[in-house]
Amino acid sequence: MTERIATPGHSEPRTPRSPRGSERSCRGWSQEAALRMLLNGLDPEVAGPASQAVDWRSFAALVESLRDLENDETLLVLNGNPAGIFRTREAAPRVLISGENPAGNWSRIGVQENLLETFQTFASAGRKHFAGDLSGRLIVTGGMGKMGGAQPLAAAMNGAAILCIEVDPERIKQWMKAGFCDVMVNSLDEALRILKNAVRKKEPAAVGLAGNCADVVPELASRGVVPDLLTDQTRADDPLHGYIPSGLTPDRAAELRRRDPDEYRKRAMESIARHFEGMLALAKLGSIIFEYGNHICARASEAGVENACDFPDFSAAYLRPLFCEGRVPVRCIALSGEPEDIHRIDRVALDLFAENETLSRWIRLARRQLRFQGLPARALWLGFGDASRFGVAINDLVKAGELKAPIAIACDALGEKSDAVESWLPLSALLGAASGACFISFQSGGLRRVTQMVVADGTQPMATRIERVLANHSAAAIAHYAVSGCPEAIDFARRQGMKISVDESEGASGE
Ligand code: NAD
Repeated sequence: MTERIATPGHSEPRTPRSPRGSERSCRGWSQEAALRMLLNGLDPEVAGPASQAVDWRSFAALVESLRDLENDETLLVLNGNPAGIFRTREAAPRVLISGENPAGNWSRIGVQENLLETFQTFASAGRKHFAGDLSGRLIVTGGMGKMGGAQPLAAAMNGAAILCIEVDPERIKQWMKAGFCDVMVNSLDEALRILKNAVRKKEPAAVGLAGNCADVVPELASRGVVPDLLTDQTRADDPLHGYIPSGLTPDRAAELRRRDPDEYRKRAMESIARHFEGMLALAKLGSIIFEYGNHICARASEAGVENACDFPDFSAAYLRPLFCEGRVPVRCIALSGEPEDIHRIDRVALDLFAENETLSRWIRLARRQLRFQGLPARALWLGFGDASRFGVAINDLVKAGELKAPIAIACDALGEKSDAVESWLPLSALLGAASGACFISFQSGGLRRVTQMVVADGTQPMATRIERVLANHSAAAIAHYAVSGCPEAIDFARRQGMKISVDESEGASGE
């Protein structure tokens, strides 16, 4: 039953930044966390240019509703606008969000999230192919854009030497400025001199080469320089607005795209074909190749490359095995705004999970090499049972007064395009509500994503909710893959004695 319908208010455009400190302006920490995360997600430091596209009327109305929200009420948010406030229960979620993109912005923490995923992808590839050690290994990739720019640092954090081929020198410079890339060079000779030296000494190195993949990748093959791992994050999926054809600078490419889009597309497809043929030649010479979500294999096939085999997809090859064992990423955000709160929980994670080498390496290096954006935060990839243990330990720290303010803990479930279990995401959102999440968002549209958040406020009821939400999030990842017939997940669920139903015939055929 609707208690009040929130009405939109007005606010002058200003630069959003989350409030900090231990004083709150809302009636409880769950509402306060939602408010701070909403503002944090719009902070230009976190959102980049997306912060320009704020609908200030909706924003003001949301802030007003959150400040108004009682501890036994739930605010519904639809497409970025408050839809109504309902009387529920204290242990119910305070905020439920559904709709297109804005819903996803509430728990953003900046580049760290993508860096962790890329770090974990390379670490898993290292475990699968190189006995868990990427030092002394050469990785080659293309594209240092919004997502791809994480590759140089993610590889170096794994101890590897990496060559990133990027056609736009400005992009390389941006990532160097952010500390993600060591050096920019203009010639392959210069790049290889640095990288061969690093490989020999088993030292990490991240080199950005200003060049086009369609030229450099075949050149590596003809010189017989064989990367241990080879992938690509150019926008090969978009041969008109993304991939830049060989022979053109980004400015000249933009000009041709405007003047003659058909010619642009033709040249881009020819370049993708050459790029891919270079990859095929390197595969023959022994490189391990995977596709990084950009559909380059399908594009190459369209471009007429014969035997344009499908290279394994990064997510299926390296991330899915983690999810099948209930290993999941979580993000911890210090609502106080104090970096020391994150450093304190980093130390707890290092103590609790000392045997997890990948995690320890990540925390040590992230702490040294990453600057916080917006509210200080740490993204972590935690093992089965570890996420809930960690969440409860954080709640204990808040209770003991060792942190300046509560910590928000967020986790996501993503929908895969090829997902056989289409309806899984709504179920995972509902499970989050049943388990006690403080905040749940269901993002529809292009990327489908469910985000759940719990707020470690130091109270005992919250400790139980944190434990349930994080344990069930991890178990739900296993269940998701088990019901899809993934043998690793079925096997793991059985070994853990989990109450998860699987299609026996499908399971048996997969085993
Ligand atoms: P982006 O457009 O921000 O960056 C692409 C970069 O590639 C640009 O810097 C561009 O200058 C460069 N580039 C284009 N053509 C080139 C060429 N021929 N040679 C060298 N450099 C070239 O894109 P993004 O957000 O970084 O994403 C890159 C691709 O990776 C996308 O296709 C994305 O879908 C994919 N990706 C997918 C996932 C996922 O599925 N979860 C994860 C990471 C990346």
